[in-house]
Amino acid sequence: MEPTPMICLTCKTPMRGREDKKYCSDQCRATANNHNRKNTEKEIIATNKALRKNRKILKTLCPVGKSTVRRTVLETMGYNFAIFSSLYYPNSANLYYFCYDYGFSPIVQKGVEKALIITRQNYVGKWEPWKFIK
Ligand SMILES: [Zn+2]
Repeated sequence: MEPTPMICLTCKTPMRGREDKKYCSDQCRATANNHNRKNTEKEIIATNKALRKNRKILKTLCPVGKSTVRRTVLETMGYNFAIFSSLYYPNSANLYYFCYDYGFSPIVQKGVEKALIITRQNYVGKWEPWKFIK
C-alpha cells in the first residue's frame, strides 16, 4: 500500500518520515510556532484594546460615583458588551460587568434598557462560576 504523501505544513514541501510529522525542518517548526504566537498575541492585544475602550466610555459617562445612561448611549459610543474583565454579583437583582475599575449593571426603567455605571468599591472579588450551572 502506498503511504499517504506528507507535506510540510509551513513550506508545503513533500517529505518522508513518521506519519505524525508536521514539518520538514526545525526552521519550519520554529516559523509555525512564531506564527501561532503572533496570532495569540494579536487576540490578547485586541481584547485589551476593547477593554480599555469600554473602560474609557464608562469613565466618560460616570465622572463621579455612579450614573445611569441608556443602553443606546453606550452602543453609540462603541461599547462592546462581550468584553469585560470581571463580574460582580452583589445580589440577585444586579450583575455588574467590569472593565478594570469601572462597571455597569444592565437595568430596565419604565421599559427602557439602561446601564447603571459604578466605580469599583472595595469588595473582595470572590466569584463562584459553578453557581450558575443548572
Ligand atoms: Zn518545511
